[in-house]
Amino acid sequence: MNSVERFNRPPSPQAASLVFLAEIYESFQGEGPWAGTDSLFIRTSGCNLRCWFCDTPWTSWNPEGTQWTLDELARRIESSPAEHVVITGGEPMLAASLTELTELCRSAGRILTIETAGTVDRSVECDLMAISPKRPNSAPDDPHWRQRHEQTRDQPAVIRSLMQRYRSILKFVIDTDADVDDVCRYVDRIPEASADHVWLMPQARTRQELQDREDRVRKAAKRHGFHYSPRLHIAEFDSARGV
Ligand code: SF4
Repeated sequence: MNSVERFNRPPSPQAASLVFLAEIYESFQGEGPWAGTDSLFIRTSGCNLRCWFCDTPWTSWNPEGTQWTLDELARRIESSPAEHVVITGGEPMLAASLTELTELCRSAGRILTIETAGTVDRSVECDLMAISPKRPNSAPDDPHWRQRHEQTRDQPAVIRSLMQRYRSILKFVIDTDADVDDVCRYVDRIPEASADHVWLMPQARTRQELQDREDRVRKAAKRHGFHYSPRLHIAEFDSARGV
């Protein structure tokens, strides 16, 4: 079994009622069309990619977390005052019991976003599929992970399928001007995608990096008719975790 097959295999029956979470907390959405909305963040642990700029390495490079039962999660969701739930990662589309978790969120009346890199297709419930395709600018230096990352990160058929079935946006992390050109070429490859689906956001793990890049990325987004996505959580909390 190769690495892609291993990561994409269905969860075992024993794991069927458990979800491995790095953290769960209330905060505000920092990115995309619902930026600023109070949300309950459910962050799964584990990822099939290893972006060099990953801002949650405790879900990818060094995954950590605890197992939650669906009953525990149902109680946590019901007790949250937040109208929105964001299931993020790591790569949440890999998580055991994800379908059941999304059904829990919807039956609790929550507005649900799933944040995914778009490499794994699953049948889930959601109000917004926030897809962040990982481009060549994401590859890590580590030779082992670089090869695996490059084999896995680009799955246009998965992204097309998700966009056909769910209300979707495409979010791209921008580091250099060449990254913007790459986004333009990428969007041309996806028939379901138009400029209105695209949100550019600055590559940043710290408040300083965000400040250094946001003006340039905002202008690039305007030039191409894309949306600019703030990263309010980094602006507010810098690189702090779980906020
Ligand atoms: S896909 Fe997301 S969680 Fe996974 S390594 Fe890249 S940035 Fe980190």
